Amino acid sequence: MDIEKKVWEVLLSEKEIEGRINELGQQISADYQEKKLLVVSLLKGSFVFTADLVRKISIPVKIEFMTTSSYGHGQESSGQINIISDVKGDLTGYDVLVVDDITDSGLTMKYVMEHLKSKKPNSVKCCVLLDKPERRQIEIVPDYLGFTIPDKFVVGYGLNYGDYYRNIPYVFVVTDQDR
Ligand code: 5GP
Ligand code: MG
Repeated sequence: MDIEKKVWEVLLSEKEIEGRINELGQQISADYQEKKLLVVSLLKGSFVFTADLVRKISIPVKIEFMTTSSYGHGQESSGQINIISDVKGDLTGYDVLVVDDITDSGLTMKYVMEHLKSKKPNSVKCCVLLDKPERRQIEIVPDYLGFTIPDKFVVGYGLNYGDYYRNIPYVFVVTDQDR
């Protein structure tokens, strides 16, 4: 694959990610102590982040998954969000926390949060590992955020390049430089 021939620049190391997720887990556990926490993880990108985050949450938590699409195989959002697989069951009484890998245009998170609000839970907030605020098309500020990053296409820790590299344990940027 072409990216194998390029220099990978590590943006966030495993240690940095782990440290920040510990903090987020503690903060979420404190904030949701008296609540019925339901984490909704957006597949596929957030599966690694969700798995690490929920293991740092020390209160009872129910976990559901949703699949949306907007990107296809390109590096630009199509702007059209589709729900491929929705959460099951009644959300009444739950405090929903939507977990995603990255907020870019913001269109996915906005759409998913509005969709979940229509199911009438107590509250809907979001937690994202990465934020690229420079690329925003609509106003949305993550309630819980791992890291703000520059406007670059990032890969690893759940984030894909084509169909691959989600399993790389750190976040990297593919440079123009040959190895
Ligand atoms: P948004 O709707 O905010 O534009 O984009 C949300 C989705 O696009 C993310 O959940 C992620 O799947 C994908 N995405 C956005 N930026 C990147 C990126 O830099 N790298 C990768 N691999 N996916 C991205
Ligand atoms: Mg995604």
